[in-house]
Order: sequence, then C-alpha cells, then structure tokens
Amino acid sequence: DLDDEVPTPHRIQDRNQPVPEAAAVPVDGGFTNTADSDPSLAANRDWATKITARMPECALGAELLRQSTVESADRLDTVLSAGCAAQREWAALGGAGRAAVLRIVARELERSRADLLQVMGSECGKTLDQSDPEVSEAIDFANWYAAHALELDDLDGAVAVPRRLTVVAPPWNFPVAIPTGSVLAALASGSSVVIKPAPEASRCAAVMVQALWRAGVPRDVLQLVQLDEGSLGQRLIADPRVDQVILTGGYETAELFGSFRPGLRLFAETSGKNAMVVTPSADFDLAARDLVYSAFGHAGQKCSAASLAILVGSVAESRRFRSQLLDAARALTVGDPADLRTRMGPLITPASGKLLHALTTQDDGESWLLRPERLDESGRLWTPGIKTGVRRRSPFHLTEYFGPVLGIMTADSMAEALEIQNEVAYGLTAGLHSLDHAEIAEWIDGVQAGNLYVNRHTTGALVGRQPFGGWKRSAVGAGTKAGGPSYLIGLTGWAPRPA
Ligand code: GLU
Repeated sequence: DLDDEVPTPHRIQDRNQPVPEAAAVPVDGGFTNTADSDPSLAANRDWATKITARMPECALGAELLRQSTVESADRLDTVLSAGCAAQREWAALGGAGRAAVLRIVARELERSRADLLQVMGSECGKTLDQSDPEVSEAIDFANWYAAHALELDDLDGAVAVPRRLTVVAPPWNFPVAIPTGSVLAALASGSSVVIKPAPEASRCAAVMVQALWRAGVPRDVLQLVQLDEGSLGQRLIADPRVDQVILTGGYETAELFGSFRPGLRLFAETSGKNAMVVTPSADFDLAARDLVYSAFGHAGQKCSAASLAILVGSVAESRRFRSQLLDAARALTVGDPADLRTRMGPLITPASGKLLHALTTQDDGESWLLRPERLDESGRLWTPGIKTGVRRRSPFHLTEYFGPVLGIMTADSMAEALEIQNEVAYGLTAGLHSLDHAEIAEWIDGVQAGNLYVNRHTTGALVGRQPFGGWKRSAVGAGTKAGGPSYLIGLTGWAPRPA
C-alpha cells in the first residue's frame, strides 16, 4: 500500500518549532510549511533573522559552478559518456535500491534547508515565505518518487527498462523545488542525469546537487553543467545519447528543443496565463486573499500565478470586493528579500522590469486600479499592479507577462467566464471562488486547465495531492504530471516480463 510509503507531506505538517541553529537544522525542525507561513515565520524569527542576515554575502554553490563550466564539445562529450557509463550500475540497484538513496536525499535536503534558503534569497530574490515551502516541496518530491520507484520493480506483466541519460533544464522561478523534483524523478526511474540550470538560478542548483551527492547519489550519475545555451546547448539536446529531456520553461523554448532534435522525448511544463473566477456566492475575504497571493507571490513570476480575475455578475460592481483587493495588494511590502517583512522581492531579470515599464506607459484604453510603481534605479523593484476593464482578446487577456500584474475582466454568467478563461492558448492552472455547488460543478466540467483550484490560491501545488502539469500550450511532449502517480512510468521504457 503506497500510503504507507509516502510520509505526511512536509508542506502540510505543522512543524512550528523554533530551530536553534541555522547551521544544524534537525530533521524534524523548521517552519510550518504552508504557503501562508507568516505565523510560523514570526515564531521562528530568530532563526529566520540569522538566515536573512547572511543572504547578501552568500556565495554558496559558486565554487562548484566554476568547476562545472563546459566550454568545449570535447568536455561535453566526456560528461555524456561518463553519465552513460555510470547509469548501468545505478539502474542495477533496482527501484528499491534507488528509493533507499532518495529517502536519504530527503533527510539531506532537510539538513540543507538553511543553505538553500540563503542561496534562494541571495541569488533569486526569493522571500522566505516563498522559499521555505519550496524546500519542503523538494523534500516531498524525494519521498514521493522514492515510494513510486518501488512500484517499478513490480509492474504487472512488464519489466521497467530505465533510460540511459536524462537532461534536466529547470527554470529560475522555482530554483530548488523544480530542479530537485525533475532530477529526482529521473534518478528514481533509473536514468543518469545531466542538469543544466537556468543561468539566473545556477547557484541554487549547485547547492541542491551537492546535497544529493552527500546523500549518496554518485557524481557521474548526477552531473551539473553550465554551458552556452546557443551552440553547446543545442549540441547537448541533439546528442543521441540523451534519451529524454525534462524542461520547465517557456512554450517557445520547448518548440526550440523540438527543432534541435525531431522526435525528442520531451517532458515540458511550459507557460501559463491563468485566471481566477469569482462569483457572487464567493466568500469575498478569502477570494481577495487568495487572488492577491496567487497574483503577487514571488512578484507574479510563476507559471501558476493568477494574472487574471474574472468577476461574475454583481461581483464586478461590488465596491467591497474591489476595496478588499486593493487593500490586500497595497499591504504587500515590496523590497529587500533579506527583510522578513518583505512579501515581494525584485524581479529576477531586468527584461521583466522593462516589460512592466512598457505596460504602465502604453495607452490601450484600459485603466489601472493600482498602477505599478518602480521603486529603484535597477528597474527590478516594482509595486503590484491591478488593471481594470481588460478587454477580451486584448494582449493583457492573452499574453503571459510573468510579473506582478493582475488584470480584471467581467462576465455576465459562469458560461461567459468560462469562455473568457478558455480563450487563452495556455491551460496550466485555473481558480474558482464560489460557495455554490452547481456553479462549482459547471466550472470544473468546462474549464480547460491542468490544475484546478476551488476556493484556494492557484499556486503551490502539493506533491501527490495536486500532480502538476497543464494542457494546451502549457505542456509539450509527454503530458504526464510531476508529483503524480504515473510520472516515473512515463520516464522509463518497458519490456514484457519473461514467462
Ligand atoms: N509548481 C508550481 C506551483 O504549483 C508552479 C511551477 C511554475 O510556475 O513553473 O505553484
């Protein structure tokens, strides 16, 4: 029974115990790992203060990155050959052997929590209320894939045949949870892994890789490379020794990978432009809170973020709801991620800052309920923005912006809200706030998205509870869902079980 194999997710445990030393986090210590972890942050303020104080000068992972730079085709060739050679022994451990290593990985990640939080804050500007649940998600991936690796030993009428080499290409917005989850899935399936992190988040990946090595993952089975994304990146994807690629990134990147190598086995979670529908029956307090958290958590830089609110019927005219939304957004502290009060840190790329600048200066007939303001010279620190009167099929309706901007649209009925929601080319997450069962049923039946959330924020999928992945342009290639029951099987080949 798998239920016995998967421990209670870290993300939902109440682990609200003060932790004395940042450097020696006990296995069961840490924060409460819910997305809204403010109370636990307060309870753990001493420990958290120590971590954040060290963020600015944190250089964790830098040394490994220097060593991992691949500058020539020869060096890349050595990496790929080493990965292939090491894979046999790794696969020979069987699902049970690999599961045992992954369980140690889970403990090692917990021990590394303080380091991971520091590097996420210093390199990616992640605030502690966002980065702490991310470490827990990584631990949950370890335990989940460990449990499912056991299944691979015992398939009905078939033998799982691990693939040789998997390339993992993670994004910068979840610099620990997504790389860790993708790497561990491939490892659990019996494959060797080459991880090529996003340049904006490569130190985070390096710290994670070191934790996995300490836990016993052999160094040739998991290799980190930093390389030029143009020529060598293309060479890596096109190399026939690479059996499959797990990518989280833009839809265009997934298409590009496919063009490098027709027929590539690609597991890609791509872009999103997600909406939350609010109906007159909703609990407005909760809807405003969840909308603001979904839109502005990590400054909106999540594929899963809600960047549209579709207000149905009288909600569109409700001054109460509007002022709740406005108050909740205005209350977010924007600034230094090393300050515990901060809820929105800097945008990670200067390009995002430029985009916000363009959005706020264009005259498109739509108006700002809350106009985003640039707070510093770098152009990366912006207050949240809420736009009203977003027109159907306008760029604000259809384009993914990946920043702290929320557009408000209105609909006369649930049917119209669904049309607006489904008109988007992507289909990653979707949210509904409603207390009416018939409405909820109609919405679930009609909405086109991979992850549906009713009366809850649209970000922070729980491993095992909410397997994560989209449809339409939010997924490319094999569309299985990360953190779900069939993800590992998708990563292996199989042969008939000999009689
Ligand atoms: N898994 C993340 C979540 O549920 C989103 C991943 C992404 O934005 O790429 O919020």
